[in-house]
Amino acid sequence: MSVESGKLTIALSKGRILKGSLPLLAAAGIELSEAPADSRKLLFATSHPQVRILIIRASDVPTFVSYGAADMGVAGKDVLLENDVSGFYEMMDLQIARCRLVLASRPDADLGKPCLKIATKYVKTTRDWCAAHGYQIEVVRLYGSMELAPLVGLADAIVDVMESGNTLRENGLVVRDHIMGISSRLIINRASMKVKTGLIKPIMKKISAAMPDEVTC
Ligand code: ADP
Ligand code: MG
Repeated sequence: MSVESGKLTIALSKGRILKGSLPLLAAAGIELSEAPADSRKLLFATSHPQVRILIIRASDVPTFVSYGAADMGVAGKDVLLENDVSGFYEMMDLQIARCRLVLASRPDADLGKPCLKIATKYVKTTRDWCAAHGYQIEVVRLYGSMELAPLVGLADAIVDVMESGNTLRENGLVVRDHIMGISSRLIINRASMKVKTGLIKPIMKKISAAMPDEVTC
């Protein structure tokens, strides 16, 4: 492990996850030394003398935590389901960055046709869900702007996360099926959980107490 045993590194990503995590971390006495939005820094000291925070891409959080480059991290369930790394425990559902994974298309699209083309960045989850629900599909892997795919004939449908549905609506797409509810999870490196229990447990307890509804998994 690359970090000293008396120190704790937490991996977060900018945007919704940072916004949702900051109040929970603050309840555990962990506040950023400066506002990350005003900074290009990726590594931040905090008000907790033993804790530092990394700000990285949302999809990289499981990798950092799995390899012990960070002891703890916050990642969306959508990201965790797509990831192959397994060096961490999924400890708590933080109930932040909540959204839904949906199958969407133009209203007139025939989803019953053989070899339905689906554009998504959630390749694994899409394959699993479609196999379980009798859709014969071909996956077109995209990294963003999925909504465009059905409009330009790249795909018949998309699988993407949605909160209000505004982006889908603005692009003339409708929800055809709800795949699952998504929220962000607190993940902890397996070795850190053993070696740094004394540091991790009190933080988890305070985070848990600060949540509106205490949900652990
Ligand atoms: P990225 O664009 O790198 O995936 P985001 O900040 O957009 O990073 O998303 C981080 C996490 O927030 C996602 O993995 C997902 O769990 C959740 N999320 C993504 N889009 C939405 C949304 N529209 N509403 C709520 N949560 C979302
Ligand atoms: Mg995004």
